Amino acid sequence: MKFVMNNTSFGLVCLILLTVQNCTMIKINVSEKRNSSPQKIEMGKGVTLTTWGAIRVNKSHFFPSSFQLKTENEIIYIDPVGINTTEKGDYILITHSHPDHFSLEDIEKILKPETEIICSQGVKGKLKKVDNKVQVVKPGDSLQLNGFTLEATAAYNTKSVFLWIKAHPKSKENVGFILTLSNGLKIYHAGDTDFIPEMRKISNIDLALLPIGGDNLTMNEQEAAQIVNEIQPTKVFPMHFEIKEKEIIKQFKNLVKEPIEVIEIE
Ligand SMILES: [Zn+2]
Repeated sequence: MKFVMNNTSFGLVCLILLTVQNCTMIKINVSEKRNSSPQKIEMGKGVTLTTWGAIRVNKSHFFPSSFQLKTENEIIYIDPVGINTTEKGDYILITHSHPDHFSLEDIEKILKPETEIICSQGVKGKLKKVDNKVQVVKPGDSLQLNGFTLEATAAYNTKSVFLWIKAHPKSKENVGFILTLSNGLKIYHAGDTDFIPEMRKISNIDLALLPIGGDNLTMNEQEAAQIVNEIQPTKVFPMHFEIKEKEIIKQFKNLVKEPIEVIEIE
């Protein structure tokens, strides 16, 4: 019950989200607290990572796990939700089917006939209206794609959100992604996950995109910092947290050891 007591509105929303499949009570919109211009992070070697900032999950303003990765040759989206662009993607990667990660409306904005979608099993059933090529991946799979290799990583909860119910049970085979670009840059998007033993095998990451919001939905800032200090990416970008809790970014930053760079979100 801890998370319901501490964080009533967001907790209740999440609980509904978990217990009611295909729930129409979850309303996701662009947050009015979002900066008008997208945030761009130059990764070097002609690679740019873009985020659009907060979305509204009912009444909560929430920094999601949505990104666009632009390389010299490819445009790759990960969990596009509330995006502010219609730039077509070569690849769209979806970690799991929760509405803060999967939005058909956003996907349709960035599809061209050649766009390939790579997703976990739970997402596939929601893509019936989409004619594009869809490849399902499960943790441990790897794919050679145009301009990069993709490795699907495990992403699941060890903690329950309510009684025995886990937001992201291992049995769902949700995923995270490690992308190794042809120029050598290696990017890890963890999806929604707790700190799990499989993460310890991850190494040589240039940029890690990690959830830090806690609430038994993902790692909290301490757990995320612990895994960061173990796998030692060059840079880390915290995601998946309520923006009113900016304090946790500070705490996360304090816990991450040098020389790892924490990218702060505006
Ligand atoms: Zn989720």
